[in-house]
Amino acid sequence: MKLATIRLDGRHAAVRVDGDEAVEVGAADVGELLADPSWRDRPDGSRHPLAGVDYAPVVPRPSKIFCVGLNYRDHILEMGRELPTHPTLFAKFADALLGPADDLVLPSVSEQVDWEVELGVVIGAPLRRASAAQARDAIAGYTVVNDISMRDWQWRTAQWLAGKTFEASTPVGPWLVTPDEVDHAADLEVRCEVDGVVMQRDRTSELVASPADVAAYISQIVALRPGDLIATGTPGGVGAGRDPKVFLAPGQTVRTSVEGLGECVNHCVKDAG
Ligand code: ZN
Repeated sequence: MKLATIRLDGRHAAVRVDGDEAVEVGAADVGELLADPSWRDRPDGSRHPLAGVDYAPVVPRPSKIFCVGLNYRDHILEMGRELPTHPTLFAKFADALLGPADDLVLPSVSEQVDWEVELGVVIGAPLRRASAAQARDAIAGYTVVNDISMRDWQWRTAQWLAGKTFEASTPVGPWLVTPDEVDHAADLEVRCEVDGVVMQRDRTSELVASPADVAAYISQIVALRPGDLIATGTPGGVGAGRDPKVFLAPGQTVRTSVEGLGECVNHCVKDAG
């Protein structure tokens, strides 16, 4: 099953993708839907042609957004680093999220806007001090995240937050795909293209900490709730890791995809303000 949050006249609605239609399911967004343990029993509402749908971030207002730093085995080893014993965690605020087809406004205050395709995980049930098996059962589904990073801001200080939570900078979507459709994202291709050139390509089987491992680890710190979002880390091939370094420019299109989960396609535009 695929779920999405769409924009209608002046409101958001959670929908289920049903063939070439989006069917409203009686909630304002996917996070609100998942908070109801019996959401699968809700009656169908209005139907909309999928082709014309305007997608919001699949979970527009998670109570928490956790991100993992280096987490792809081949990328860590190629960088000459040791595999980490604990995941590197950082956070974003909900205001940082962007729709999967929205324009990406390149902030005038940054010269180094970079891409990071990632497997996104949406939590579907409360999780506190969970085992990996319990965490796996609490995953509602998977999505695509582009953890757009302003490298000049990220590396000004030891904490990365400033470069990771710019307003309306992190595309998420287009859908949440339930675990049964993608074998819990065990071995999916992740890919990022800029203007059609492949910049990142790897497989989720190379993740050091699996989605369930990461969710279980976070749950030792703080409760995860339905609709919370985890970005599981990016493989090699980011702009800042190239020689010479390359960053996004107005007019470019960045396309991030995960096999079976769809893609985010965001056109980069100049900051008017
Ligand atoms: Zn990232």
